[in-house]
Amino acid sequence: MRQTIRFGRGFGIEVGANWSLLVVVLLVAGGLATVGLPGRASGYGATAYWVTGGVCGVLVAGSLFLHELAHCRVALRVGVPVERITLWMLGGARVLSSEPVSVRTAFRSAIAGPLAGAGLGVLAGGGSAVLSVAGGPPLIVGALWWLGAINVFIAVVNLLPGDPLDGGQLLHAALRSRHGDPLRAALEVARAGSALGVLVTALGAGLCVNGRFAGLWLILTGVAIGTAARRDARTARMRIALGDRHVDDVMCPPQVLAFDTTTVDDFLAGILPGTPEVAYPVLDIDGRAAGTVLLHDLVRLPRSWWPSTRVRDVRRPLTGVPVGRPNDLLADLAVRMGASELALVVQPDHQLLGVVRRHDLNRLVRPGPGGR
Ligand SMILES: [Zn+2]
Repeated sequence: MRQTIRFGRGFGIEVGANWSLLVVVLLVAGGLATVGLPGRASGYGATAYWVTGGVCGVLVAGSLFLHELAHCRVALRVGVPVERITLWMLGGARVLSSEPVSVRTAFRSAIAGPLAGAGLGVLAGGGSAVLSVAGGPPLIVGALWWLGAINVFIAVVNLLPGDPLDGGQLLHAALRSRHGDPLRAALEVARAGSALGVLVTALGAGLCVNGRFAGLWLILTGVAIGTAARRDARTARMRIALGDRHVDDVMCPPQVLAFDTTTVDDFLAGILPGTPEVAYPVLDIDGRAAGTVLLHDLVRLPRSWWPSTRVRDVRRPLTGVPVGRPNDLLADLAVRMGASELALVVQPDHQLLGVVRRHDLNRLVRPGPGGR
């Protein structure tokens, strides 16, 4: 889950949100102000509905944060540091510094979020009932009742068995405890997630056709589940194929190096007559790894700029490219590479030792006939 807004840091945890959180706040505010609240408590002005709807939108975002904190508490209690929380429309994605190792911890961490959400839901629903009996304002009674229902709904949806929902992690922990193979469990969860993604999207489309705005939420959720399932399946298959190979089993010396101070014109003159690679390692003036330069970034530059532009002006910096050490697990580097064409293998002082190329990885992951 990509963090598009950053709120700040607290307890060493970087807290931010994905754009989909804003969609939720707006959907909640708009839906409640125009349909939900007028249906529950009639006779108020438009401003009252919009203010209450807006407050409910923010409160939903707040309860997603509490849901996420509940997950993190379990991780922190067993000593697993939490790097980042990214709130999105159904909770949050957290990045732990290391994976919680035991099945028990994984299970407890996954269930904590939905339990906290359901607890908040019951609290809000109970508050609404008490306020209603005490003769409180119908607008607040209605808003609290809705908040209770939506929190329970989010908790239940989160228990569905697919990543990035908590149910995906619960299923993973359950499968792991059954057969003990985390990669096989990840593949099985991804398979469940693919089917679930289609089902939830179809359900959302059905609701939308019937004019229910919650359907849009389900469509977004279904698409997110399907996307995560495809990504997880790819990652699990890659980890299975790469096994316990290390980076130095695959890395090779770079065929061509680019230098920070070389002009684009000179560099391209040197490589274009042959069969150019898609990406090249770049060395700085001290001969240390400075990043990579992509062929398409170079050829996209207007021809007239080539003689005056230096490689350092167009390269991707070292902080933005996948980097590994020779004894790193190859599968870990492959995950960091994502769709990148090239990873650099460097020493701690940034001396370049070699490169890992996408097509070498692909050969291992998808071996030809006669391969493993
Ligand atoms: Zn969760």
